Amino acid sequence: MDREHKMETSLEEIRHLLSHLHGEVTALESSYSQVLSVLRKFEGVANTDDLTGLLRRRAFFQTWEAILQECQRLNESCGVLMIDIDHFKRVNDTHGHATGDEVIKRVASLLKQYESPNCVVSRLGGEEFAVAIKGTDAEILGVAEFIRRGAEKLHGPVVGSGSESSSSNVEWKCTLSVGMASAHKVGYDASSLLKAADEALYVAKKSGRNQVRAA
Ligand code: GH3
Ligand code: MG
Ligand code: MG
Repeated sequence: MDREHKMETSLEEIRHLLSHLHGEVTALESSYSQVLSVLRKFEGVANTDDLTGLLRRRAFFQTWEAILQECQRLNESCGVLMIDIDHFKRVNDTHGHATGDEVIKRVASLLKQYESPNCVVSRLGGEEFAVAIKGTDAEILGVAEFIRRGAEKLHGPVVGSGSESSSSNVEWKCTLSVGMASAHKVGYDASSLLKAADEALYVAKKSGRNQVRAA
């Protein structure tokens, strides 16, 4: 009887311990998920450009490498566009830095319209953007041409000139030069492709700007 009583007491202690442990584990789980959610927020902020909300350079390169690997594995085509606003320094010099920022934001919004699981857009820095696209050369060049023509239609009032609300017609406009390189032509190497697209962009600039050139 005494032995039975002791066992009952021990079992009771174990039950108590287990219920205490359950509480601890639940609390730990909740802290863990809070930490994870904060980390995810940090990651989002670190990967995203403040002005445009587009992916930053480093996050873009990681995504671009993953896209390339997947396309190579599945034997699918893809490519990259390097995009640069033409004579952007003039926009700043003529209309001020705030208007320059507005132009960057509007170009970013134009590019965002093409974002999809097959199309990743990034602001590499300054007035330079990159777009990674899954598709044939013709499809990628088609997107590039849509983007170039879309930019030709962009315009807006000069920021801080008072023309935002008045009938003054001081407006900014912009054009883009685009360099394209495809894995089909250059091979499935992330750096070589970006370099080739950059060289094609340079040719677009040298040939008079506001145009798309392929590597
Ligand atoms: P090109 O047609 O050859 O590309 O000429 P560009 O004037 O666009 O090129 P350049 O590289 O000479 O000038 C880019 C300018 O972009 C210089 C820099 O002050 C400006 N810039 C870079 N980042 C920002 C930004 O975040 N906001 C604004 N407003 N200007 C920026
Ligand atoms: Mg530039
Ligand atoms: Mg430029």
